[in-house]
Amino acid sequence: MKSCLCCCAAAFVIAGPARGVTLPILAIILMFGIFGLTTRQMLGVLVYSLVAFGVASGVVAARDEPDYPPVVAAAYVGMVVVVLLSSTFLTTRVQSTREHLRRQKAELAQALEQIRQLATHDDLTGLLNRRAMLDRMQLEQRRSLRSGSPLLIAQLDIDHFKAVNDTHGHAAGDLVLQSFADTVRRNVRDTDVLARWGGEEFVLLLCDTPAADAVALMERLRQAVQAMQVPVAQGGQPITVTVSIGLARHTPADPLAGTLERADRALYAAKAGGRNRVVPAPCLR
Ligand code: GH3
Ligand code: MG
Ligand code: MG
Repeated sequence: MKSCLCCCAAAFVIAGPARGVTLPILAIILMFGIFGLTTRQMLGVLVYSLVAFGVASGVVAARDEPDYPPVVAAAYVGMVVVVLLSSTFLTTRVQSTREHLRRQKAELAQALEQIRQLATHDDLTGLLNRRAMLDRMQLEQRRSLRSGSPLLIAQLDIDHFKAVNDTHGHAAGDLVLQSFADTVRRNVRDTDVLARWGGEEFVLLLCDTPAADAVALMERLRQAVQAMQVPVAQGGQPITVTVSIGLARHTPADPLAGTLERADRALYAAKAGGRNRVVPAPCLR
């Protein structure tokens, strides 16, 4: 850009009576700067151009040309200053519009992320919700089909949870749900996926876990939940709960709904068997 400006100033000196043409050329050169330069760079260009055209005007004036009386010289310098100042002003406007758009884009991305989070996660526990879990299950099902790795589904249901609400209140019940989610999360691998299926029911997707390991893991989980102590307000006895778990293996040829149903039947058997227990579906025994 600086060499263009120098050429323009040199043209101003050598063009004689046609030197007026150099001013629109200067404006065109600066127009490119408006969109490409920062305000600081544009200020640099302004100073550089003022010096270049000041020198050019001085050289022409020193030659004492008849068509360049002082009044015309002053008019040229005035025009150069107007072109430069308006370009600098436009650059600051373009910069602030760009900055505004950048901020709006960042806010929009943040809002979209919030919407995505709300649509896919449960507010209370921060776990995936049922819809997002169904999507994730389909993904893991395809992965398991490709790799041949085992895929297991566990249905977990807190025992007598209604009694927690009735005895300690809904807020304490919410706290129990959060502690339960944290306890389960802490006891499974990062690759396993936990979701709040609804109310006090949760679904755990165990990826690439052999059946025997999964049964042992569920048993450890059951014990961890039993050991969990949720503090209550006014320093009373902490709340303890137990969980019943039904576990089923997904067979690649079956639809996911079938596996969920088998896990649900196993959970029902755990409840019927006295609760606080893990029941593997017949396919796992
Ligand atoms: P079971 O051992 O047979 O599972 O009995 P349960 O009492 O756990 O099951 P039930 O289906 O009878 O009661 C579930 C209760 O969970 C009833 C409902 O008010 C409560 N619940 C569901 N969602 C929430 C929630 O978000 N917060 C709280 N505090 N309670 C909830
Ligand atoms: Mg329950
Ligand atoms: Mg239930």
